[in-house]
Amino acid sequence: MTVVTRFAPSPTGFLHIGGARTALYNWLYAKHTGGKFLLRIEDTDRERSTPEAVEAIFDGLNWLGLTADEEPTFQFARRDRHADVANELLAAGKAYYCYCSPEELTEMREKARAEGRPMKYDGTWRDRDASGAPEGVKPVVRLKAPLEGDAVIMDQVQGEVRVANEQLDDYVILRGDGTPTYMLSVVVDDHDMGVTNVIRGDDHLTNAFRQKALYDAMGWDVPTFAHIPLNSWPGRCKTVQTSWCVGC
Ligand code: GLU
Repeated sequence: MTVVTRFAPSPTGFLHIGGARTALYNWLYAKHTGGKFLLRIEDTDRERSTPEAVEAIFDGLNWLGLTADEEPTFQFARRDRHADVANELLAAGKAYYCYCSPEELTEMREKARAEGRPMKYDGTWRDRDASGAPEGVKPVVRLKAPLEGDAVIMDQVQGEVRVANEQLDDYVILRGDGTPTYMLSVVVDDHDMGVTNVIRGDDHLTNAFRQKALYDAMGWDVPTFAHIPLNSWPGRCKTVQTSWCVGC
């Protein structure tokens, strides 16, 4: 199987050295294996994404010689495809409409805080008939995530990482206004782009468990994950002023 890697920056700020490092790892792995390196601009945050930041990503990658093997993909332009996948999951009974009001969600959050546990959607609408839905509420769509067993990721850097499914919740894939969430878009795009290896910062490791549930629900192959540490240098780096360091 041909290896396909990708660099998927959000153009909400200029390309920084951490992003460049992630791009380099993806590029190197693709070149090493005779595969392809792709670029995806994750521009779904319309308020914070800027054309200047997109240009800076292109310029920076070109300057580093980390050129992509195909034209870049722009995530926002694919939002209809993302919504189609959410509708497919709805039709298959693998996702559902949730009509919880912001007040109900706040209540859930407060209860979790009072009991000293992390906020987790309680599944109110998971098996409830939509005929009892309150009027005038635009529902979100939530993934019906597995309730039992463990989610296991065989990460190429972290090794086997496991979390009990009961700790994960039915997360939102489509907002009330019909726009896809990051978690949905990233999985659909990685699948459609044929990405075989997701190499990214370990700040995304917890997302991988949730994303796996979505791949499984769609019956798609889960890519091989490699979450690279951002925090491998002890203490805060004095030069680049971040919590990680390239070794100055
Ligand atoms: N757009 C995300 C970021 O800039 C990366 C998403 C991913 O690599 O899956 O952090």
